[in-house]
This record gives sequence, structure tokens and C-alpha cells, in this order.
Amino acid sequence: MQSTFKRGVHPAANKGLSDKKNIVFMPPPSVVYISTAQHIGKAAKPIVAKGDRVIEGQKIAEADGFISAPVFSSVTGTVKEIKTMNTPLAKAEHIIIERDETSEETFRLKPLGEKQRTRENILERIKECGIVGMGGAGFPTHVKLQPKDKVDTFIINAAECEPYITCDYRILLEYTEPFLRGALYMAKAVGLDKVYIGIEDNKTDAANFVSNVAASKGYNVEVKILKSKYPQGAEKQLIYAMTGRKVPTGALPSAVGAVVDNVHTALSVCLAVEDGQPLYKRIMTVSGGGITEPKNFWAAGGTQYGEILSFCGGAKEGGDEPVKFISGGPMMGIAVSDEEIASTKTTSCLLLLTEDEAFTGKPQPCINCGKCASACPMRLMPMYIDSFILNGDVGGAVKYGAKNCIECGCCAFSCPAKRPLVQSIRLAKKKAREAGL
Ligand code: SF4
Ligand code: SF4
Repeated sequence: MQSTFKRGVHPAANKGLSDKKNIVFMPPPSVVYISTAQHIGKAAKPIVAKGDRVIEGQKIAEADGFISAPVFSSVTGTVKEIKTMNTPLAKAEHIIIERDETSEETFRLKPLGEKQRTRENILERIKECGIVGMGGAGFPTHVKLQPKDKVDTFIINAAECEPYITCDYRILLEYTEPFLRGALYMAKAVGLDKVYIGIEDNKTDAANFVSNVAASKGYNVEVKILKSKYPQGAEKQLIYAMTGRKVPTGALPSAVGAVVDNVHTALSVCLAVEDGQPLYKRIMTVSGGGITEPKNFWAAGGTQYGEILSFCGGAKEGGDEPVKFISGGPMMGIAVSDEEIASTKTTSCLLLLTEDEAFTGKPQPCINCGKCASACPMRLMPMYIDSFILNGDVGGAVKYGAKNCIECGCCAFSCPAKRPLVQSIRLAKKKAREAGL
């Protein structure tokens, strides 16, 4: 058994700004902007119209096809408008709802009783509640839990290897039992009765706590401590570290008998099964040297970034003002400037980084040092992919493995010339898709 993977990098974890902060509740805003594209796959189709009254937890957009997921209102109120708005990466249709501040009505499905918690019912409940991978990918969970291959290992990714982000860590400490039960429901959904949990060795307090709670409850759970290294939480790297199995290029984890899912997703599965709660709110972290009060908190889906930053005291002033705003972590997140973008099921973190924390200078020409290739956990040659795509040679970029890139950011982190390698590779992947390569 391994405790890590090959290559990768060691960025400063910077968890200390928020890892001791208990999860609190952000009051829902007076207006929410709920995206219909909160997952991988086809956007959901709105089933409400302007003027309709909706209840917190009510379905407002239907899944469109197998790889899709329904979307729910995070407030009780009235639909004001349906319109296209920005997301961190593109544009999507949003359902805008004005909250009725006098109502506390909430919609829930009927909880599944213990005898009803069969594999089929759990899968159906996950699908009905619109649960998707909440670590960032947003892949519909009911699809992930029905792999084509036979699997023998269900893993919870509790590595949380991205710097700054602490929401999963707080869930492990504060929602331990529902998290564990949710993970066991997910294992049952793939036909297994055991859960493996991978946690990095910079969070041994959480690892010991989870292990002790699981043992005291008699849960069939095994916690494995992994070396703190980025991207320890990437699926293929985590599977290798946990099992020694190598997922072949272009294959899914189920090809080696494994399914991996995320901590918050497991908590959401428990809430769906036991309380009938659809996924319309989540725990997120706001951090970075440029925010006044870093926090971990529950936020209603569809809350605009500007409101979230205000809840955390807003940007610092007087020397520590932020120079970079990121949706997500510093390695895989996306730099944004629009505070009207609204949170979704996958918004785990917002960061305001200061000059000392963020590189904002001009990229320099490649000096062929090879550091990006040495860091790449997928054994790619990022400098060649970058060069091919800059010269318009999409075929060359694909030949050098652009499509296998997991967008972890290790190459850009290692590059002394500060080349925006991940953006180049994302562009190569987009152009390859467009060209059918
Ligand atoms: S090329 Fe892709 S997989 Fe390799 S280090 Fe860069 S972002 Fe990560
Ligand atoms: S790390 Fe940067 S400078 Fe060095 S080879 Fe890669 S792209 Fe070029």
C-alpha cells in the first residue's frame, strides 16, 4: 500500500486562516440567482415561470437526460425572472427568486426509513435530490455510483489538498456521524459495505476523530493517512496512494475497481436519505489574506459572491487589500472579477489573495528548465502543449497528452517563468473538443 503518488508539489497549505472556525449559518439573501448548470452534463430545464411562488427545497428545474441533475430553490419566494448570467467559466440560464422574508415554509421529501434504505432506493433518492460531486467536478452522483465495471473499493476523498480550503475538514469534525452514514449509504449504492477514507497527514486530528467515531458506532470504515502533497485528492492519484492501483490513461476509476467521492457529497447523501433534503445549500470556505474575516459557513445556493464577501467582512484595506479574487482554491480555482456571479452546488471556496499570496506579474518566455514536466502527476510535458497551442497546432497538443491533463496546476506552480500553463492546456482541450480530436 502506498501513502502517496509520484510527482506533485508542496504549496503552502495556508489552512490556518480558517481551520479553527466552526461552521456558521449565513442568512439567506433577499434575492437568489440559481444556475441551471450546476453540474457536468446538460443544464437542467426550468419548470417554473416568472411570477410563480416557490418553496425552499422545491424543484425548479428538471434534469435533462441521464447526465444531468435537478435544481432546487434555496428560498421561499417568487420567481422574478429567468435570464442568462455569468458563471466563473461561461454563461448559464439562472432562475432569479425574491425571498419572502415572512415565510419559513420548507419542502422536504419523505425520509427513507431504515428498511427502505435499499441500494435502489438510495440511488433513486440521490438522483431525486440532485446530488452531484461537491468537490468541484459536479458529476451527477447517481451516475457515478452506477459504474459499468464491477467495483470492490469505495473511497471517500478527505484529502482536501487544495491550499486554504477547510470546509471538508470542518465537516469531518462537526458533522462526523451524518458524514459517515452518508458514505456508508453511497458504498451500499455501489454494492459494497465498507468505506475507505483518505486523509492527509496534516489533518491527523480529523483522521483520529473520524476513526474513533466510526469504531464507537460499529461502522465498517477504514481511515488511511496519506502524505500531504498536492494533488493528493485527484482521483487517480488518490486511488494509487490508497490501493496501489493505476487507473489507465483515459479510463475511469471503476476500470481498477474503485469509486471515489467527496466528503460534502457524503453529508448531502445522508441529509437526502434521512431528512429528504434536496441539495440546494452547502458549506463553503472564504479565506485568503485579503478578506477581513475568513469563515466556514452554510450558504444558500444562488447567493451572489459580493454578498458572500460582505458576510465575511469584505475586502481588507490599508496594505493587505486583495489583488486577486478566485472562485475555488488557488491551484484549480478560476480568477473572477464579477461579484454578481452566484454560488452553486460546487462552490467550495472563495479566496481574496494579497500581492504576497498571488502572482500577478507578466509571464516570461519558457526557459526549457523542465520543472513543469517534473511536477506533473500525469507525466505530461506541459511546456510542449503550451508551445503547440500558442502556435495553433491543436493536433500537436493532443499528441502530447493535453486531453489527459487533470488541470491540477502543478506545472504552473512550478514554472519559474510564471507561464499560464493551465489556461493553455484548457484552451487546447477546448479546441480539441471543437475539432473532434
Ligand atoms: S499538465 Fe495538467 S496534469 Fe500536468 S501538472 Fe499541468 S495541470 Fe497538472
Ligand atoms: S517550467 Fe516553465 S520555463 Fe520551465 S520548461 Fe516548463 S514552461 Fe518552460
